[in-house]
Amino acid sequence: MRAFTYERASSVEAAAQAAAGNREAKFIAGGTNLLDLMKLEIETPTHLIDVNGLGLDTIEATPDGGLRIGAMVRNTDLASHEVVRRDYGLLSRALLAGASGQLRNKATTSGNLLQRTRCPYFYDTNQPCNKRTPGSGCSAIGGYSRQNAVVGVSDACIATHPSDMAIAMRALDAVVETVKPDGSKRAIPMADFHRLPGDTPHIETVLEQGEFITAVVLPAPIGGKQIYRKVRDRASYAFALISVGAIIQPDGTGRVAVGGVAHKPWRVEAAEAELPKGARATASILLADARPTEQNRFKVDLVERALGAAIAEAKG
Ligand SMILES: Cc1cc2nc3c(=O)[nH]c(=O)nc-3n(C[C@H](O)[C@H](O)[C@H](O)COP(=O)(O)OP(=O)(O)OC[C@H]3O[C@@H](n4cnc5c(N)ncnc54)[C@H](O)[C@@H]3O)c2cc1C
Ligand code: SF4
Repeated sequence: MRAFTYERASSVEAAAQAAAGNREAKFIAGGTNLLDLMKLEIETPTHLIDVNGLGLDTIEATPDGGLRIGAMVRNTDLASHEVVRRDYGLLSRALLAGASGQLRNKATTSGNLLQRTRCPYFYDTNQPCNKRTPGSGCSAIGGYSRQNAVVGVSDACIATHPSDMAIAMRALDAVVETVKPDGSKRAIPMADFHRLPGDTPHIETVLEQGEFITAVVLPAPIGGKQIYRKVRDRASYAFALISVGAIIQPDGTGRVAVGGVAHKPWRVEAAEAELPKGARATASILLADARPTEQNRFKVDLVERALGAAIAEAKG
């Protein structure tokens, strides 16, 4: 690990200002992703800004019936919160499908959204990877790509976003609240928060340098059967090959977001109009633009089947 300096931020504004103009600075929350990346020298910040002492660890009702989740709320606390379990079951289930109990005790809401891909070449510093070293090439294209993306891919990168929580947040129409170094605030819909890889796969979100996440806001609950199905190589402690987050209403309408298939949580609202017709009709629009590799073509069928199972489960 490279040497770095460390400070504890005294306020949200001070945290954002400390990171402004210094591309070598990083916020550290639970550290469960960042420290691994630092040990492997995939990320080499020279300055860490610890944001754990800022509060931001409460879950509060909003005036319009939704929930504001502080950026430092731990995954365990979010998954077990009474209102989340009752009204946002998809979020609770997605969180519990991720990582392990110990990791969830430490991992935060903001850190989870910003965790980096699990593409094996991203972690192997001997291999070209455009995400780690822009312009070096993509080893997964033409290489081992079983776990990689099938949709929204580019010629520069076919990585997936690994978060389970983010899939639920996308289906629930969450909004990410931030503060910029100049003190201005933004509310970024989850739909716009993560980027597709394009020619710049190293730029993963729309956050600007120093922009700090303060909370994630959920709109008022929409009811329905909320199901999270995660398909993985091991029954626990493994990232998704694919996952399906579905909210199905009694009349068969609903929402669906999919994980493990793209550089961001994948949701196509036009596909949701097909949900009453079933999984095949929905998946054919959801993954209409799929460009799988030979090794991960199976993901297209797997999404359809997992969605079919979710719809069947919702119907009881
Ligand atoms: C073995 C293992 C298995 C795992 N399995 C899964 C899994 O199955 N599913 C899953 O979803 N996840 C899984 N994870 C990932 C885990 O959920 C993430 O590591 C965790 O959520 C990251 O949160 P953190 O608070 O520790 O982030 P950190 O590591 O502290 O930070 C991650 C990034 O977020 C930035 N950041 C943090 N907070 C802010 C903020 N407020 N504003 C701006 N930037 C911020 C940091 O600068 C850093 O770049 C696994 C992790 C491990 C190690
Ligand atoms: S898919 Fe993306 S993360 Fe993986 S090797 Fe290619 S550029 Fe790197």
